[in-house]
Amino acid sequence: MNLILMGLPGAGKGTQAEKIVEKYQIPHISTGDMFRLAIKEGTELGNKAKAFMDQGELVPDEVTIGIVKERLSMDDCQKGFLLDGFPRTVAQAEALENLLTDINESLDYVIHVNVPSDQLIERLTGRRICPTCGTAYHLLFNPPKEAGKCDKDGAELIQRKDDKPDTVEKRLEVNLEQTKPMLDFYNDKGYLISVDGDQDINQVFEDIDTKLGELSK
Ligand SMILES: [Zn+2]
Repeated sequence: MNLILMGLPGAGKGTQAEKIVEKYQIPHISTGDMFRLAIKEGTELGNKAKAFMDQGELVPDEVTIGIVKERLSMDDCQKGFLLDGFPRTVAQAEALENLLTDINESLDYVIHVNVPSDQLIERLTGRRICPTCGTAYHLLFNPPKEAGKCDKDGAELIQRKDDKPDTVEKRLEVNLEQTKPMLDFYNDKGYLISVDGDQDINQVFEDIDTKLGELSK
């Protein structure tokens, strides 16, 4: 099965990716891993990408798409793949369609783990750190025994700037703006499967699994 996984930061995409690749026995292909592999193997495109990255520049689409094509052509993708972090734009999504056609493949589904923004904000702003020992807590998922205090040393917990509501909201807004056109693109093509990500992680996976099962019949 040829899949793409989409979801905003905090939607629990990583956890679902693990479960999907385990169940369907397909490789999890994240953008970062793809670049690292191409660079490590010293492919022509890998070297090109590295040159851009070393200068702190964005890797151009043609290089990225070439690397995706090389990766998806590898033997372990014969049973399919789960793409994560690519495509990021409609232009890349269109390029992906073309490259899949080139290698006699096509996309099956785009799984969107959908979590409402206010819920994401709660998840993403819940982290608290102990300034003394560095232990990390989360108000929802891993709260300290006594509110606002480190379990180990009783120090007053702090919130990092990255985890503050203003920063988190801005980050989400940018992501939403980027994601929306791609969701529309894939919805128009009939690839999109949207699952409710605002529930227990096992239930989210069950929903994904059920939908893929129904649609594959
Ligand atoms: Zn501490």
